[in-house]
Amino acid sequence: MIYYDVIIVGAGPAGIGVASLLSQSNINYLVLEKNEIGNSFLQWPKSMEMITPSFPSNAFGQIDLNSICEGSSPAFSFNKEHLTGEEYSEYLDLISDHFELKTQTHTEVKTVQKKENGWIINTNTDNYFAKYIIWAAGEFQNPQIRNIKGSEHCIHSSFIKYPNQIQGNNFVIIGGYGSGVQLAYDLIQNKQKVTLINPFKIDDVSTSDPSRVLSPYTFNKYEKLKNSKLYTEILGEVDSVSTSEDIYQIKLKDKTVIKTEQIPICATGFSLVKEPIKEFISFRDDGSPNLIPETDEFFGQKNIYLSGPSVRHDDHIFCFIYKFRQRFGVIVEDIMKKEKYSDKNISLLVDSWKRNGMYLSDLSCCGEECVC
Ligand SMILES: Cc1cc2nc3c(=O)[nH]c(=O)nc-3n(C[C@H](O)[C@H](O)[C@H](O)COP(=O)(O)OP(=O)(O)OC[C@H]3O[C@@H](n4cnc5c(N)ncnc54)[C@H](O)[C@@H]3O)c2cc1C
Repeated sequence: MIYYDVIIVGAGPAGIGVASLLSQSNINYLVLEKNEIGNSFLQWPKSMEMITPSFPSNAFGQIDLNSICEGSSPAFSFNKEHLTGEEYSEYLDLISDHFELKTQTHTEVKTVQKKENGWIINTNTDNYFAKYIIWAAGEFQNPQIRNIKGSEHCIHSSFIKYPNQIQGNNFVIIGGYGSGVQLAYDLIQNKQKVTLINPFKIDDVSTSDPSRVLSPYTFNKYEKLKNSKLYTEILGEVDSVSTSEDIYQIKLKDKTVIKTEQIPICATGFSLVKEPIKEFISFRDDGSPNLIPETDEFFGQKNIYLSGPSVRHDDHIFCFIYKFRQRFGVIVEDIMKKEKYSDKNISLLVDSWKRNGMYLSDLSCCGEECVC
């Protein structure tokens, strides 16, 4: 058994980001990653780029939107606004090397057991004991196709790695958020016909929150897309998918039937990777994990925290990097308090994290929306 104070599961932006703050204390931690650092980004479709723009604005007190630690900017490292998945994973690698973060790759957490003073973490290599776990296993590796009968006849959009190379005719995409619109755009650039099904009008903008509507970057692509003769948009909810004689039939709840020779593509999102810890999670009505608002520990548990895009508090969705990084400091502060660090030492770190967008404890300000 190998002992650590803190085990962080996952070396994506959430795991590497929270490790960069922990490394500023003397707390003994290790990041366990089942594959490579930035694994999810390495698996993105090759044409996919970050939709949040990067800009090296750190020196003016406004840290790059895609930065996961103080003093770093993907825009500065790559001289680019919209990084590809491969570039972003390289950025995470650079951070890990620069700050000499303790990361062990090719180590998959299989099970987690609760003990009186901590947690036993079993992996494909070793067994670990830790007082605290920070779960940062992300969502990308848990693609979701929900509430569609016959979903086994569909493919999830995240499995299509080279959308601008596939050939066929009349592709049907179910879901019109970021991934669905990006995929439709790529297919049409490749002169393919696309029908996109979404329950509501994609450009019906009633909020400025990019967690709920298309980001400006994707909206721009959508504007080009919807004027294409190759593009059809259908308002509706898919009820079921069936197949016979190499034809797929997609039936909507209003009984409309759409037929295609191509396997239907579901751009229906992702949800938290949770298998090894599912017994410690209770869920809100919207399916997100219930968390303690002050610490981001799983509700009803102690010393097991969630970091990453599944964090929700009331109506606030922390799904973008610039949003969920604001909770890194909250988690690390709680661990430092439990480890009896002095208030003075804690506030020295917290003050700097606050200045750099890595600490948000007052959630009352998150409801602000743009007025024009
Ligand atoms: C197509 C697409 C585009 C996006 N664009 C943007 C954007 O422009 N801006 C933005 O802010 N966000 C964007 N997002 C969301 C963003 O990618 C996620 O919020 C971010 O990756 C979450 O980081 P994470 O560290 O929580 O998860 P991940 O990046 O998924 O990292 C989780 C890590 O945990 C590892 N892991 C999982 N299970 C285990 C286990 N059992 N044991 C050990 N390791 C494990 C995985 O291998 C992975 O490396 C996008 C998402 C998608 C799908």
